[in-house]
Amino acid sequence: MQYLIDQACVFRARAAAHSLHLDRLAQPHRPRAMFIACSDARLVPALLTAAQPGDLYELRTIGGVVLPYDANTPTGESRTIAYAVDELGVSDIVVCGHSDCEVVTAAMHGNRAVSGVTGCEDESAPLSGDVTAAGYLARPQPARHVQRLSVRRTRLADRSLRLHAWFHELDTGATLAHHPRASTFLPL
Ligand SMILES: [Zn+2]
Repeated sequence: MQYLIDQACVFRARAAAHSLHLDRLAQPHRPRAMFIACSDARLVPALLTAAQPGDLYELRTIGGVVLPYDANTPTGESRTIAYAVDELGVSDIVVCGHSDCEVVTAAMHGNRAVSGVTGCEDESAPLSGDVTAAGYLARPQPARHVQRLSVRRTRLADRSLRLHAWFHELDTGATLAHHPRASTFLPL
């Protein structure tokens, strides 16, 4: 923990060394995209995309899973997505799974304690293969979540809001993107 404290103490100096203009962050928040991913500490969206402060509006959950939308009991995740789309006006949502995801591994082995948290227990698609499983678990639920909101459905239809499903390999650094027509992940 001391390392993190020490780094926070010298953050302004590091920001200056990297030519980060912190004063600009006082302006209205207009992120380039929303990034939904697993909370796994090994996955660092800003590092992966070279994003600067203000670029990514992040939603990190266990397994990157967002529970199905329920208008009667909106969750923190659903409010976060709605805020990104309606208030911040993001045009792109990236949902990124990753290799060696302990949540996906637990779900694949029937660990109901974990799958219950992530809402995976009702999924009927086969869980076979790391890419398939992680991509499946991380991608479709947020996509359906967004699609179930009528306002966002309109924006999906006119493509002013686009969904992207990525899969990042922690050990190689490669990132794949899901191609719906081919129903597979291919390198970006
Ligand atoms: Zn994970």
